[in-house]
Amino acid sequence: MSASTDCIFCKIAAGEIPGDIVGETELSVAFRDLMPQAPTHVLVVPRGHHENAAAVAEAAPDTLADMFLLARTVAEQEALEGYRAVFNTGAAAQQTVFHAHLHVIGGRPFTWPPG
Ligand code: 5GP
Ligand code: ZN
Repeated sequence: MSASTDCIFCKIAAGEIPGDIVGETELSVAFRDLMPQAPTHVLVVPRGHHENAAAVAEAAPDTLADMFLLARTVAEQEALEGYRAVFNTGAAAQQTVFHAHLHVIGGRPFTWPPG
């Protein structure tokens, strides 16, 4: 759970490297994805280092709830009618950064299954 020294999202959350921050709480930080998949593509991360969503749920359930509430705040700020909230877990599911992050994606039409 302690901050990993080479974790990019730990560093953005701590303000050690720049991020396009759009919202924050005591427990979590929201910033724009570097390679957005939609007009709004924001990542909500816990301030503490956890590998994935289930690890946050296990160690810090209040933080997980806080992340979803921050996602809602960001969606309101961006005037989204609706949004997709996604956690990828594991390399096989295309998780590439192993600091839990909630993708908040909106501002374009969606199909199901996701594409
Ligand atoms: P994952 O594939 O792990 O679910 O998502 C990682 C996301 O982080 C990707 O959408 C990628 O574009 C984004 N990302 C990777 N490195 C950085 C970075 O340094 N800054 C920001 N803002 N986003 C990043
Ligand atoms: Zn981290």
